Amino acid sequence: MRDKRMAFGAVALVLLIAPCTWGWGEKGHRMVTRLAVRSLPHDMPLFFRRAVWELEYLGYDPDRWRSPMEPTLNAANAPEHFINLERVPEGSFLPDRYQFLQRLVERGGIRSDVTPASIGFLPYRIVELTELLRGQFRLWRRAPRRTAPERAERRQIEQNILFIAGVLAHFVADGAQPLHTTVHYDGWNTTFAPNPRGYTTERGIHLRFENDFVNEAVRESDVRPLLARPRRLGPLFEETMRYLRESHALLERLYELDRVGGFAPGSTHAEARRFAAERLAVAAHMLASLWYTAWVESRDEPSLP
Ligand SMILES: [Zn+2]
Repeated sequence: MRDKRMAFGAVALVLLIAPCTWGWGEKGHRMVTRLAVRSLPHDMPLFFRRAVWELEYLGYDPDRWRSPMEPTLNAANAPEHFINLERVPEGSFLPDRYQFLQRLVERGGIRSDVTPASIGFLPYRIVELTELLRGQFRLWRRAPRRTAPERAERRQIEQNILFIAGVLAHFVADGAQPLHTTVHYDGWNTTFAPNPRGYTTERGIHLRFENDFVNEAVRESDVRPLLARPRRLGPLFEETMRYLRESHALLERLYELDRVGGFAPGSTHAEARRFAAERLAVAAHMLASLWYTAWVESRDEPSLP
């Protein structure tokens, strides 16, 4: 009994101290995914364009994997949702997760108080999933469909594609949230950087912006007109880093809007609303572009090793 109570206490404690790095609320994630699917060009496969509900559900799924009841999974999954760019020494980003870790060690980025998990792996998760998606699209294009077993296998590939693309939607959306790219993820970190403009140092800004404010003040009709058509991307890792750095560049803007009460309950601050809507639109555009690029590039024959 005592053990049970202690276990329960430990779970509660983990819930209390776990950093708020969940990334948009369910509403924001669903909106990004839905808008991305609806913006796809007609040369994407029909089964994909029709799977609005499935993709939308999956777009929030990685936050459903964050229960302390599954501690090993939680430990691996949590750092996939963010990248603390300030923690990464110059020249450490390489398009390979383990080479990146090696570089971090070599350049002094990992110390006793800075673990790999506290730096985060968001760019890797995005690019790895996009490459996985491209490979599955390639299998689907070539899958024969003459016999019943062949058709069953092809349907399984379609299921795989939807799962991968839906999970990818989550991490892409997280990347558009500037607080997922920074050590100032929930209150200005004054031990890390000075705070001359008086940004909040209290916890709460993270959920206030991505969840409470989006739930209360942002409508899909605010976001849709800001959405650009998907484009074919260049090299995936560079494009992903550019996307995350652009998001990071808006960090102080976000803190400033918060300082003037833009995200407070009942706020009618037009710029704050525009800011959130633009971030969601940029996420939907990047997501649709990654899906589209994976599809277009799956036409290419793999070169032999
Ligand atoms: Zn997340």
